Amino acid sequence: MISLVNISTEEDIFPEYRETPIGLLLEYHNLGRPYENYDKAQLLIGMCMDNRKHLHIPENFAFIIRSGGANLRYSEFKVSYAIAVGQVGYIALIGHNNCGMVNLFSRKEQFINGMIEKAGWNREQAEEHFMNFAPMFEIGNETDFVVSESKRLSLRYPGLVIAPMIYKIEDNRIYLILEK
Ligand SMILES: [Zn+2]
Repeated sequence: MISLVNISTEEDIFPEYRETPIGLLLEYHNLGRPYENYDKAQLLIGMCMDNRKHLHIPENFAFIIRSGGANLRYSEFKVSYAIAVGQVGYIALIGHNNCGMVNLFSRKEQFINGMIEKAGWNREQAEEHFMNFAPMFEIGNETDFVVSESKRLSLRYPGLVIAPMIYKIEDNRIYLILEK
């Protein structure tokens, strides 16, 4: 069972994340913690490219990689860079509800027509492009995906703490994910 946990007080933050950059992210974004000054990034945030999301965090607080569905499978070198050169030890992986990378095939015609109208492509090019890439970028279900993507990243980067989360579009808050 997977459930979303509303973070509205410091006590709601899971103990393993308290007094870490993960906990700070939740405090800044959800709890209105006053901004502190940072001279280097404290964590890496992976989040969707979707325009409906805006994080409330201080300057210099985080590296951010945005990609469809918070999918970092194709951003590995950038993740490694943030760890090795940026010296971060934490990753917050933030999916969101109502994500466009869920059920991509339902938008196949819209995608193809859009590429023809906006990008100047022909139908064959657009169709081939969609068919080649949609299976790679499909995430299935937002919450299940960030949980499994976090597990994959934990195996790949065993020295890091990786926290999956969900951003709800309707209230602009971040929720932790509890697995039972
Ligand atoms: Zn999305």
